[in-house]
Amino acid sequence: MEDCLFCKFVSGELKIEKIFENKNIIAFNDINPQSPIHILIIPKIHISTLNDLGKNNNVLMGELFLVASQLAKKNGIADKGYRTIINCNEYGGQTVFHIHLHLLAGRVLKWPPG
Ligand code: AMP
Ligand code: ZN
Repeated sequence: MEDCLFCKFVSGELKIEKIFENKNIIAFNDINPQSPIHILIIPKIHISTLNDLGKNNNVLMGELFLVASQLAKKNGIADKGYRTIINCNEYGGQTVFHIHLHLLAGRVLKWPPG
């Protein structure tokens, strides 16, 4: 999609250091990390928000979480624990409208979030 920052990372129009890539997904470090490890895991196809998911996206969404779990193990944070988040729209705090799964780890995370 034109004018979508994350689509530009996927297409290569903007360079980003990918820490994971497969046919459907890329992952990279968040530019403004909220914890020692803060990775964004995104589908290569443009989906704006959780509200825009279709039934045919169910495997893809599962795959995002599978990649999160694999990256957690790879980074040695699986046993201590971590948090995965998808923000949706204004009240959810979404600022980039290409769906993405946050993987946060490396410190004790407060609950409830702000
Ligand atoms: P959200 O607020 O859930 O939409 O998350 C968007 C995330 O994208 C934020 O955590 C930002 O720090 C992150 N972000 C914005 N621009 C970039 C960028 N150029 N590279 C990496 N992460 C970014
Ligand atoms: Zn996009």
